Amino acid sequence: MAADDILKKIIAHAKEYGFIFPSSELYDGLGAVYDYGQLGSELKNNIKQYWWNAMVRLHENIVGIDAAIFMHPTTWKASGHVDAFNDPLIDNKDSKKRYRADVLIEEHREKMNQKIEKELEKGRKKFGDSFDEAQARATNPNIQREQAKIDELTARFVKALEASNLEELRQIIIDNGIVCPVSGTANWSDVRQFNLMFETKLGATAEGASTIYLRPETAQGIFVNYLNVQKTGRMKIPFGIAQIGKAFRNEIVARQFIFRMREFEQMEMQFFVRPGSEMEWFYKWKEARLQWHKALGFGDSNYRYHDHEKLAHYANAACDIEFNFPMGFKELEGIHSRTDFDLSQHQQFSGKKITYFDPELNESYVPYVVETSVGLDRTFLAVLSKSYHEEQLDNETRVVLRIPAALAPIKVAVLPLVKKDGLPEVAREIMKELSFQFNCQYDEKDSIGKRYRRQDAIGTPFCITIDHETLTDQCVTIRDRDTMQQERVAISTLAGIIDSKVSMNNLLKQLL
Ligand code: ATP
Repeated sequence: MAADDILKKIIAHAKEYGFIFPSSELYDGLGAVYDYGQLGSELKNNIKQYWWNAMVRLHENIVGIDAAIFMHPTTWKASGHVDAFNDPLIDNKDSKKRYRADVLIEEHREKMNQKIEKELEKGRKKFGDSFDEAQARATNPNIQREQAKIDELTARFVKALEASNLEELRQIIIDNGIVCPVSGTANWSDVRQFNLMFETKLGATAEGASTIYLRPETAQGIFVNYLNVQKTGRMKIPFGIAQIGKAFRNEIVARQFIFRMREFEQMEMQFFVRPGSEMEWFYKWKEARLQWHKALGFGDSNYRYHDHEKLAHYANAACDIEFNFPMGFKELEGIHSRTDFDLSQHQQFSGKKITYFDPELNESYVPYVVETSVGLDRTFLAVLSKSYHEEQLDNETRVVLRIPAALAPIKVAVLPLVKKDGLPEVAREIMKELSFQFNCQYDEKDSIGKRYRRQDAIGTPFCITIDHETLTDQCVTIRDRDTMQQERVAISTLAGIIDSKVSMNNLLKQLL
């Protein structure tokens, strides 16, 4: 299936089953803003819980906070966002569509990479296990030619970004024959900088009101609370502060469903370390975060690292974890070594000392920071897109969401075979017991086959059917979403069977 088609199917499915709706749809929606429905919010909460437990509960030296979205405006002066949180935008004069110049170039480069991938794939097919990728890269003239072009483009691109040379960015687009995907032309405007922060007013009267910003990242709420948490929590370096919360960016191009939104959620952790030890921690967190993603079981080859060629002004190392979304490999999480930039800036702008006294070294310093920052909505999209399967059964197609059981919105569906003969009452009794532990759904409408399909489509790991025999043998049929196998088990064993598969511990234990 083409990438576009897969994404369309996922969007339609997410809407049909109550995962994600366009925001204010009654009024035809709002660009790049979405609402999570009854199942979407459950899945989102489960992803949050997985992250929070992995970061805060499994690490003695990480604590979590929940800072306000509104912050003193000087925060964003100090952090550099007022002056430098810009994206380079470019318009196609024929289609009137707007793009990010850097993204156009990156996508073009990815296409070149795909050509190399195709060539490698041919080799893999031809030579099987004996195929030597490194040798192919070193000797195949097609690959070498393409790689040379990529290297040249990358060098030029990085130089232009570092110098904020907007004319050169435009020239790169033109020289590489990059055209607008809508009009197919290269009739490009100049490249301009565009600040992504949303502004609003704080205060009642126009004269007394001051301009404040909706936070474009959650991290600053952690930095400004560094001293509060360190002192009240008696934290010793190295330690981390974690936070999950909303962030807002007035994105120029927001067309890829929940991949790029104007209001989204981040799960961020700032890890405060001794200066000089930051690279060690950077590599540790790179590893640990990749492991967190991989534990979901979507296949290791769907993840890759992308080290940044151009570092942000505050960073001395940065790496993305990219995921194979329906639109190709794209950033899912960023891991950044932010040096002492943020704390030093806040120290300077606030005039208050932000240092740590290290008893082992017997000296004070501004701690260095390694940050892990993952998009909750992008993780949601990763889960949804890799869980969606269409399977051909004997005479029908089954749509099943193979969501990792621990993240599934509903864990168990309780289904009386018929709506009479006392079966609903027994089913309700079972549901009441299981509801203390699991999110359950009761369904007595339509044939049992149809009910199974409905649960498959929302990713429910287990269906329990109560039939006439249940009344005498105290047993039910339990059906597994993935294998569709059915087993007759005693009611008293249900909670144990379900828990062994849906427990969050199954994911967390893979991280230790
Ligand atoms: P991109 O290059 O894709 O714009 P970024 O490098 O600006 O992303 P960061 O500032 O590193 O992103 O933010 C950390 C994480 O927050 C990203 O890895 C991503 O998962 C998430 N994120 C950033 N912007 C958005 C957005 N507009 N919509 C949804 N998630 C986002």
